[in-house]
Amino acid sequence: MDPERIFESFPAPSYRGNQEQALRDIRDAFAAGNDVVLVRAPTGSGKSLLARAIAGCARTVEESEPKHATDAYYTTPQVSQLDDVESESLLDDLSIIRGKRNYTCILPGEHDTPVNRAPCVRQKGFDCTVRHRCPYFSDRAIASSKSIAAMTLAYFMQTAGSDVFRKRDVVVIDEAHGLAEWAEMYATIELSPHTVPVWDDVGIPDVAAADDAVERASRLAETLSGVCERAKDELLTKPELTPDEAARRDRLQELRSELDWFVKDYRDPTSATTWVVDQPDGEGTKIVIKPLNPEKYLHHTVWDRGNKFALLSATILNKDAFCRQVGLDPKDVALVDVPHTFPVENRPLYDVTQGRMTYEHRDETIPKIARLVVRLMAHHPDEKGLIHAHSYSIQERLADHLVDFGVGERVRTHSKENRDAELDAWKASSDPELFLSVKMEEALDLKGDLCRWQVLCKAPYLNTSDSRVARRLEEGQWSWYHRAALRTVIQACGRVIRAPDDHGATYLADSSLLDLFERARSDTPDWFAEQVDRTKIPDLPEFDPRAALSGLDGGGPGTLGGSSSTSQNDGSGRENRGFGRRRRRGKSGVRSSEEERKNHPLSDVWGDG
Ligand code: SF4
Repeated sequence: MDPERIFESFPAPSYRGNQEQALRDIRDAFAAGNDVVLVRAPTGSGKSLLARAIAGCARTVEESEPKHATDAYYTTPQVSQLDDVESESLLDDLSIIRGKRNYTCILPGEHDTPVNRAPCVRQKGFDCTVRHRCPYFSDRAIASSKSIAAMTLAYFMQTAGSDVFRKRDVVVIDEAHGLAEWAEMYATIELSPHTVPVWDDVGIPDVAAADDAVERASRLAETLSGVCERAKDELLTKPELTPDEAARRDRLQELRSELDWFVKDYRDPTSATTWVVDQPDGEGTKIVIKPLNPEKYLHHTVWDRGNKFALLSATILNKDAFCRQVGLDPKDVALVDVPHTFPVENRPLYDVTQGRMTYEHRDETIPKIARLVVRLMAHHPDEKGLIHAHSYSIQERLADHLVDFGVGERVRTHSKENRDAELDAWKASSDPELFLSVKMEEALDLKGDLCRWQVLCKAPYLNTSDSRVARRLEEGQWSWYHRAALRTVIQACGRVIRAPDDHGATYLADSSLLDLFERARSDTPDWFAEQVDRTKIPDLPEFDPRAALSGLDGGGPGTLGGSSSTSQNDGSGRENRGFGRRRRRGKSGVRSSEEERKNHPLSDVWGDG
């Protein structure tokens, strides 16, 4: 790597905000011999451009010997981040490769078939005559030969050990704050009827009731791996598979390697990984096997893939803790802090706390928050708002109250199934709709009028019934617990302010948020602490559902505090709207693994692979 090239590799014609200083600091950190540089860069610092500049410092093929790793990878856990990179003209020399399921086959009659179900993976010995034109294989060939290959972290991890995507000189990981959690998720094994194709062929014991649940799970894993192998071998005797059979074969293969990895690691006395097992519903039901310390997994899938690493994020809150979690020695890691350039007055926090939202206080607090939301709707009659409801249960209860108050026509919700469609519809709407969202604290770019205000309904603490969380708290890792929640709050606050001249208000409805700010104060970035210190109690209008609707086209006569756009109403508009925007959850009580992933706070990371 040649850090001196960082300025010439910066793709924009000029610098914005603190970019030039950030490049200088990053250059110096690598020049000082650090193999890993954390770049703490808040929203608006042009992280992707910094990433491109760092990648441009990688050793080239021309200037190195064949044995040396050359070129660079750009990777991010968030599919939306990769989409943003793809649409940015300044980054058009990044060669993007996605997972096979994102491409379709070009053979006649197969145009709707994703590449991972195409004839080349269904038929034994299939020799595709157009493979050189196949969209997936040609993108892959381009990405593997160009100087910067860009991909999701999921794809990057999956290609560990592949001949196509070998070790490179520089690896840039964008949105890297959740690297440990993402590695844990990737390495988590779920055994359920949805994820185990041979579920009915094995007896699922009550592993949680065993003296040693992990030992019992490892014996089950050995048995299950053998059953998977036999089922896969049976499929492989067929000359041609249907798409479903091809999917079954792939899943059997994938599950086998997951199970074998777990058993091998668990039985390795030198492994630093601690495994935990969850099976809340007992015999015959879903088992989840999770690693607590994914360092070993990260070594193989990430740290062995490059010589130098730049990890970029707005919310790496504590360098030493982050390094420990991902298996890096803090001594070998430099931290570059990029100051925030958005005026603090444009990103105000408001204390509108209504009580606690812990499970036992929720019945009392939710109706108060619903009334608060009506007042906020009246305060922002013409502006779109976003509610971070934290869970579908809270979302549904809030939505019910808002409908009961008569303001449902300004409210949009989403279910697990239609999450993306409703989000797109809300963003496209010209009405000042209020979107009751679940797990949208990250990877959402609501610039300008797309959203001017938002409400945090609940301090986003991790679920203590998750054995991984419970285990860490038993070990006294309370700082980690608070940091994880603070990180989500900071991410959420960044959704509504995307540029120095943008503005967006964040209302804090759960009293626990104020406690969180105190408890996590030492891990709070200065720029966010400044925001917290300026938290104000706003002057809101009284509860008046009609005023809350006054900004809708055709808003009712006699509305209070409404905008001038309400004056055309003839009284019928509101009835015609009904509550058409209200969306109910699907009836299915069974959550598939894919659905769970869709609703996970990190859902965005799973959209590829
Ligand atoms: S290699 Fe050929 S058969 Fe396979 S997906 Fe591409 S075009 Fe289809």
